[in-house]
Amino acid sequence: MAQKKRRKKSKRMSKALRVCLIMLAVLAVLFTTVVVLAMSGVIPANNVEDFLEGFVGEGVEKALDKILPNDLVDEVFVDKYNDFVDFVVDLLPKPERVALDGEIRVYFFDVGQSDSILIMAPEGNVLVDAGDNDCQDALEGYLDDLGVTTLHCVIATHPHEDHIGSMDMIFEEFEVLNLIMPNAEVDTDTFTATGDYTRMMEGAEEQGTAVSYASSGSTFSLGELEFLFLAPNSKDYNDLNDWSLVTKVTYGSTSMILTGDAESASEKEIVAKYGSSALDCDILKSGHHGSSSSSCDEFLDAIDAEIAVISCGTGNKYGHPNQPVLDRYEEREMQVYRTDLEGTIVFVSNGAEFTRVP
Ligand SMILES: [Zn+2]
Repeated sequence: MAQKKRRKKSKRMSKALRVCLIMLAVLAVLFTTVVVLAMSGVIPANNVEDFLEGFVGEGVEKALDKILPNDLVDEVFVDKYNDFVDFVVDLLPKPERVALDGEIRVYFFDVGQSDSILIMAPEGNVLVDAGDNDCQDALEGYLDDLGVTTLHCVIATHPHEDHIGSMDMIFEEFEVLNLIMPNAEVDTDTFTATGDYTRMMEGAEEQGTAVSYASSGSTFSLGELEFLFLAPNSKDYNDLNDWSLVTKVTYGSTSMILTGDAESASEKEIVAKYGSSALDCDILKSGHHGSSSSSCDEFLDAIDAEIAVISCGTGNKYGHPNQPVLDRYEEREMQVYRTDLEGTIVFVSNGAEFTRVP
């Protein structure tokens, strides 16, 4: 009887062993295939980690959980497997950073109904806003594909979800040297009450990122690239959008104004303080996704931009860009580019002029 039980037990053991061996064999074949495809550049290196950790790792973990004790799976498989994935990912070729020589590149990323702009200069990278929570994977992919690993400066124009939603991913995945935010009453609830803001600040603290607060008149530079903050100008606004850091970015004789979601109240203050000759620029990042509450006549006349770039989502519920704004641009014969129609929009400046590149 005891012998029969033992035989039964060893039969069950050998079945479990067979299942394990088959699983390991399948895993080894899959793993090798993925690594070979990644090494040969058939699949982008930045997708390999997601694939190995997600599809393969979680799938195998679930299967092993059915035949082995859970804590054993966690201890033996999950920890070691994740270490192994990190090891393999480190071995894979990294995408080359876009080469720049005497020029800057500006990417108005397609991040749906939100904002994220990357400026790549020979001396480093500046990210203005990080889109909403839904664009995390897309934004990470854009930056990885450009070979970005370090952001020398991240500007958070204002703490709305569609501008800082993916900041937690930025701090998790990239080295961030400086974070600049508007110099608001940062302890007020409107600024700090959101989870997105808290996660962004936790990310900055964990990395030891230098955090600073800017307002109208503040400046910084990165090599030849110069940043002048035009707003906020007041100590109080009715609308959080008007707290947006508005930035004039100058490279050689080319310049652009990035507005966040600043509306006409802030735009009028900017015109009153700086006047048209200081505001003249080539490209306007349309305020508040092309809402008619921004891009007022006085502001458009003062900045005299030739190009407007609108960052908005296809079929968004706000009807952005609003027709009156498009009419105001048309009256001034501005060229309009929209991320909802064209996806990511890229310009290059050689210091003398901006050219759109595919
Ligand atoms: Zn917005």
